[in-house]
Amino acid sequence: MAEKLTLEVVSPYGQTFKDEVDEVIAPGSEGEFGVLPGHIPFITTLKIGILIYKKNGKPGYIFVNSGYAEVYEDRVLVLADSAEKAEDIDVERAKEALRRAEELLKKQENIDFARAQAALQRAINRIRAAELAGKR
Ligand code: ATP
Repeated sequence: MAEKLTLEVVSPYGQTFKDEVDEVIAPGSEGEFGVLPGHIPFITTLKIGILIYKKNGKPGYIFVNSGYAEVYEDRVLVLADSAEKAEDIDVERAKEALRRAEELLKKQENIDFARAQAALQRAINRIRAAELAGKR
């Protein structure tokens, strides 16, 4: 049985992450799921959230903007709309995006509510991922 997982996170903007890890916890659309080496293969959709991996006992955090996860016995492939390692997140940019989304949502009329909500979720999760990484 596989002892490690190769975690690969890619988006149309490029490869965000590729490394051997011990465990992955990902934000599935139907809820968070955990993967250890030897997991039964499956494919699922992801929601905007934070993927956590563990390598040699240490956690790492990756922001993922929706997409898919393909799980194999020795590999997890995440195809996201966008993704950043927590340490690469520009927190000021995310805070600015949060302010913009909040302003839009306050207006309530003549806005694409789902789009503004998604922008809000992206900003909140980016800020949270950066915070989690900072606390390591
Ligand atoms: P913004 O409104 O600030 O552009 P967004 O949520 O609309 O944010 P995305 O469409 O998810 O941005 O991503 C576009 C590109 O910008 C991707 O390459 C993504 O990784 C990058 N990106 C977006 N926000 C940040 C951030 N706060 N820090 C680092 N990279 C970011």
